Amino acid sequence: MTKRPVQGLHHITAVASDANQNIDFYQTVLGQRLVKRTVNFDDPKTYHLYYGDKVGSPGTIMTFFPWQHMRRGSRGVGETGATGYLIPPDAVDYWQDRLTKHNIETTPTQSRFGETVLAFADPNGLPLELITDRDNSDIVHWDAGEIASEHAIRGFHGVTLWVKDAAPTAHVLTQHLGFTRVGQEKNRIRLRGASTAVGLYIDLLELPTVSKGRFGAGSVHHIAFRTVDDDEQAEYLDRLRLAGLQVTPVQDRQYFHSIYFREPNGVLFEIATDAPGFLYDEHIDTLGQQLKLPTWLEPHRQEIERIVPPLEIDKTK
Ligand code: ZN
Repeated sequence: MTKRPVQGLHHITAVASDANQNIDFYQTVLGQRLVKRTVNFDDPKTYHLYYGDKVGSPGTIMTFFPWQHMRRGSRGVGETGATGYLIPPDAVDYWQDRLTKHNIETTPTQSRFGETVLAFADPNGLPLELITDRDNSDIVHWDAGEIASEHAIRGFHGVTLWVKDAAPTAHVLTQHLGFTRVGQEKNRIRLRGASTAVGLYIDLLELPTVSKGRFGAGSVHHIAFRTVDDDEQAEYLDRLRLAGLQVTPVQDRQYFHSIYFREPNGVLFEIATDAPGFLYDEHIDTLGQQLKLPTWLEPHRQEIERIVPPLEIDKTK
């Protein structure tokens, strides 16, 4: 094991279609602050939108590539089947009312490992869950949104991965990333990260007869785990390669540094550094208000700004 286990989830990256619809849902309805507006570094014609708490704390960050004409994907094994946000135990009724008022269909609440789960989907069909739990997080509430602190989402609870066979994925999580198996309900196996951060739970839902899905709008592209700094990340890189996993070299993602690998069931995992973070190139008061580009794309700013769609939120400033 490296010096210490990963500190839970860092971010989750998914695919949307319409950028404005995506901002309206995550920022207005769910009360997540748009903390960064940049482009997909591998496809600069597309936005990369980041939502999180007031400062963009690791463990709160949901990110999207809104590809305007992307058709909707379908779920299958080898991907993230649901993304869970953590809410306070007495906020369930509030959220049920709020989602209904916004014409978002919810499924009846379920009980899972003693917690209440409220399930629904985003406008592209991406499965989301609000899961009650005690709030151990030190996330910073975004008080400019519509949602009072007592009801607000507290970052991620965790994710549910759909897998054919849980054992090899559980092996990677427990042997290399510091997770512990903490429970099982039917075909759902729960693993917990070793820290006290948010985003600690990975549920493996074993679905041996389900086939692969189709990637598209509403699909999660990858999930990222937190590591503190470059040195710790380098230890993970060595360790995972020694274990026979195909890990990419370190990529500079401007707000964090990343390595990627596919776990044995096919889910794309990333390990991202906490540093330098989202306050790296913007002040806390104006986070997410301007299109930020890395230095290597700055010479193409005019062209990029002409291609990406205008955002409705800019009209109300
Ligand atoms: Zn990522």
